[in-house]
Amino acid sequence: MNLDFSPREIAFRDEVRRFIADAYPPALRAKQKAGEHLGREDYLSWHRALAKQGWIAPGWPVEYGGPGLTPTQKHLLAEELAAADTVRLPPFGISMVGPVIYAFGTAEQKARFLPPTLAGDIWWCQGYSEPGAGSDLASLKTRAVRGVDADGDHYIVNGQKTWTTLAQYADWGFFLVRTDPDAKAQEGISFLLIDMKSPGVTVRPIITLDGAHEVNEVWLEDVRVPVENRVYDENRGWTCAKFLLAHERTNIAGVAASKNGLNKLRAVAQAEGLADDPVYQRKLADLEIDLLALEYTELRTLARESAGKGPGPESSLLKIKGTEVQQRLTELMVEAVGAYALPDRRAIRSGNLGPVGPDWAGRAAPTYFNMRKTSIYGGSNEIQRNIITKMILGL
Ligand SMILES: Cc1cc2nc3c(=O)[nH]c(=O)nc-3n(C[C@H](O)[C@H](O)[C@H](O)COP(=O)(O)OP(=O)(O)OC[C@H]3O[C@@H](n4cnc5c(N)ncnc54)[C@H](O)[C@@H]3O)c2cc1C
Repeated sequence: MNLDFSPREIAFRDEVRRFIADAYPPALRAKQKAGEHLGREDYLSWHRALAKQGWIAPGWPVEYGGPGLTPTQKHLLAEELAAADTVRLPPFGISMVGPVIYAFGTAEQKARFLPPTLAGDIWWCQGYSEPGAGSDLASLKTRAVRGVDADGDHYIVNGQKTWTTLAQYADWGFFLVRTDPDAKAQEGISFLLIDMKSPGVTVRPIITLDGAHEVNEVWLEDVRVPVENRVYDENRGWTCAKFLLAHERTNIAGVAASKNGLNKLRAVAQAEGLADDPVYQRKLADLEIDLLALEYTELRTLARESAGKGPGPESSLLKIKGTEVQQRLTELMVEAVGAYALPDRRAIRSGNLGPVGPDWAGRAAPTYFNMRKTSIYGGSNEIQRNIITKMILGL
């Protein structure tokens, strides 16, 4: 999209470009190019560089360590980070629990958790979903029973969470637990911060379609959690949960990353001889139009935020359209590379099979499989449609 940027904004964009060129960890870049699995330290190396620059949390208020960027500067930062193909950092600390803590936490919780979250010294995971509670999250059963002993006021937590992304790296988790089993579903839930090293916490891997270890089961067995780790009032955790989900959904749209993906796809299509294929080009054009419309919607949301209004139900629109675009990008990539998407890339990497096809073919199929998740997580797209029906259309 061509926006008219002021000289100050253009100077900011140039500063971002210079910063990325200087500060992006070369080892991380090399791993990305080789299509290698990224681990905790890979993500943290980039998180820390952004934190040092003051740009890790563009959405946070200045008083809690946000950089005080204008909506246009935030947009430019996101665009440049995506255009330079920097890794998307896990959102759990900066985009999810951080805002909950500064909006609902006590002064002690803010002082204890916000600075290390910004600095990349705490890796967070999100313990919402359970085997029987996904879309119907309020039916969650993980139980927290309050008690007092010589060591103080605490909860004993028992239950099972699932799909917990990158919990294998997490230092802390934010969990929804049931503190009042007799209250109406939404009214008996509390929001707890749990140290993942606490006795009784077990993390077990779930391997996804693309062969990656990205999600986990988390078991909580008699885990002792001090009451001071509860955010907001007891039994009012649902308020924090909803606030967080609206932030999560805006973040999921990934417009800047999709624009970068579209540019890459164009280059691949050209190289694969599809530049003159009218059917393929028509699909690319349709995708670009949807992406452009999405970008306008995201900019409107940013403008609302800068006017002091948090993301509302329109974040459901961003979630649906953003994830559809992401999935279509991966479908068109598989279509472009054709049969080269078929070989088992793990066999190639392990040396059991020589290189097959051009460089860009390697990630096509695993990425296609991996991105099926986007219309499920953060509240499935069907659920987002229900929210739009009720909250926006008023039906
Ligand atoms: C890769 C990945 C990572 C995730 N990471 C996390 C994480 O870090 N932390 C966390 O807490 N959770 C995480 N999740 C869980 C995610 O939020 C849930 O998968 C999601 O909310 C859907 O719940 P479910 O899987 O139980 O499906 P279900 O709720 O069982 O839904 C099954 C199907 O029925 C449809 N459906 C259900 N109810 C309705 C309805 N009322 N109207 C219309 N359709 C309906 C759904 O859209 C879906 O298609 C992750 C999920 C995935 C796939």
